[in-house]
Amino acid sequence: MDHNKLADLLFPNISRSRQDYEEMFPERKLPAGAKVTRLGPSPTGFIHLGNLYGAFVDERLAHQSGGTFYLRIEDTDDKRYVEGAVEVIINSLRFFGIHFDEGATIDGHIGDYGPYYQSARGDIYQCFAKELIAKGQAYPCFLTEEEITAIREKQESLKENPGIYGKWAVNRDLSFEEIESNLNAGKSYVIRLKSDGNHDLPSEEIKTISIEDGIRGTLTIPENNQDVILLKANGIPTYHFAHVVDDHFMRTTHVVRGAEWLPSLPIHVELFEKLHFAMPIFCHTAQLMKLDEEGNKRKLSKRKDPELSLDYYRNEGYHPAAVREYLMTILNSNFEEWRIANPDSPIDEFDFTVEKMSNSGALFDLNKLNDIGKDVLVKIPAADLCQFLKDWSKEFKPEILPLLEGQEAYIEKILDLGRTGDKPRKDLIYAKQIFEFIRYFFDDYFVIEDSNPSNVSEEDAKAILSAYLASYDHHDDQAQWFDKIRAIGSDLGYAAKPKDYKKNPDLYKGHVGDVSTVIRIALMGRSQSPDIWEIQQILGEARTKSRIQKRI
Ligand code: GLU
Repeated sequence: MDHNKLADLLFPNISRSRQDYEEMFPERKLPAGAKVTRLGPSPTGFIHLGNLYGAFVDERLAHQSGGTFYLRIEDTDDKRYVEGAVEVIINSLRFFGIHFDEGATIDGHIGDYGPYYQSARGDIYQCFAKELIAKGQAYPCFLTEEEITAIREKQESLKENPGIYGKWAVNRDLSFEEIESNLNAGKSYVIRLKSDGNHDLPSEEIKTISIEDGIRGTLTIPENNQDVILLKANGIPTYHFAHVVDDHFMRTTHVVRGAEWLPSLPIHVELFEKLHFAMPIFCHTAQLMKLDEEGNKRKLSKRKDPELSLDYYRNEGYHPAAVREYLMTILNSNFEEWRIANPDSPIDEFDFTVEKMSNSGALFDLNKLNDIGKDVLVKIPAADLCQFLKDWSKEFKPEILPLLEGQEAYIEKILDLGRTGDKPRKDLIYAKQIFEFIRYFFDDYFVIEDSNPSNVSEEDAKAILSAYLASYDHHDDQAQWFDKIRAIGSDLGYAAKPKDYKKNPDLYKGHVGDVSTVIRIALMGRSQSPDIWEIQQILGEARTKSRIQKRI
């Protein structure tokens, strides 16, 4: 069979050659050791934690080494394409501090290695499909859906592996004339790889390949034997083929992708070899897992776990620095140790390495994220947090924006409550929770949530508040203020010190803590809050007095 003639018959319009593309997309001029990484999301409109997790790895590898990180849109599956999805990808990642140097943008692309939308790269895929045909390493396959189903059923009944390979690849050796007459009859076809692999052997004789995975070390896996599809009937490439061509010509040095791609790695290796492209370093990341209610590890699921979607973190108002800090702790096992030694260093000073990544399932835990969020937020100045709250509310809770805008000085005092000093309070976690935590500072959101201690009668509560109001002086310092509370309590039969009460509970109705709880509830609506005196200073005299008055 004249393979060149077949190549021309199938691809009459392909004029560029391998040489042309090698010249158009030369090796990048980067410093030695610089890494080129990419994110290759499909534009499905859903961007998830796994994308962000992988993007952090890509971003760090590239930017730590003076390399390039680019965005390639893998839009070869038009059934999954969602309008506006690219914008969602770019904006969501930007929010979390991920910036691309090159690649797809909202309205086009930047960079010399494009186009960066796979849908615009048809010619280049066809050029290399044509080349493989010309070398006899690929072929047109005319099998219909029904024929493929029949093959699968037969394979099942014989307990053989499914797929088109070896003896099942019945279109492998069609003659030129047969192919030509199929084409003339208008039969639809795909282009398949003619795999050299053979699995019809005793298992110990099946050839294996060894690959150095950046995260997993040496992988020894059986070679590919499947005649996988390279170009679909509509001429669009499959992931396998597009990945190999694109990562070669975009000069990717490190392919960071999820472990779900491990089973198809042998296909990619065979393709890189047949196309004589140098292989990038594959870094297969661990799946994100969570512990379910029963304590079992399972994969995060789109259906069951809202926290898989990046939108979740935007909606709740997680600070990007907190998410970044947390992801780094699950990405690199030595990060936490580094953080303890370098509490105030910018996170980008941490030397991220793929070798320190786990390869067995990274455990994602919202509680841990919240704990880390507290530590991260306590270091963010109140002015920045205030701006963050405003930005968040603009998008997700516009009804509170008027409370925040123009009230920056008030908000900053609120946010700094108890945050200064040696043992700062760590109450602030994410925007939604912060607003919930501070909302009693705004009259419209102030409600009495808790009830007075059960040992304080209704009558005593009123007496406490009346005495408090009568003796209230906004200029009292903290000690003077507390002495007054003690005195009010003593007059009514409450121990001035909790330990006096503990010693002789029969002598008292309760202690000073119960008295201040009554005041706290009148002012904050809650039995738990930061320091009352400090809160009063922020609320101001008028608001303080009026809240007490209302409870009497
Ligand atoms: N388009 C693939 C995905 O959405 C990208 C995989 C890769 O990074 O190679 O998972």
